Amino acid sequence: MGYLKNRESGWTSRAACKGEPVEIFYKKKYLKIAQRICSGCVVKKECGLAGRKEKFGVWGGIPRGWLREEK
Ligand code: SF4
Repeated sequence: MGYLKNRESGWTSRAACKGEPVEIFYKKKYLKIAQRICSGCVVKKECGLAGRKEKFGVWGGIPRGWLREEK
């Protein structure tokens, strides 16, 4: 959810991924890093709920859809 870094309200303001590079949450090669960041996130539950219907990326520490292969 790193791409939400510009949102400063609600639960996203407490996200552990705030300010992290976006690609960490969308590329397969970074999945372990993303999950490590998510593991300590205080809004993991909210993020997981928000990402239930997402087709791309890691939400709540879970890859919800496609993650791009390394290029
Ligand atoms: S669970 Fe992961 S992707 Fe979701 S807000 Fe927290 S750090 Fe970001």
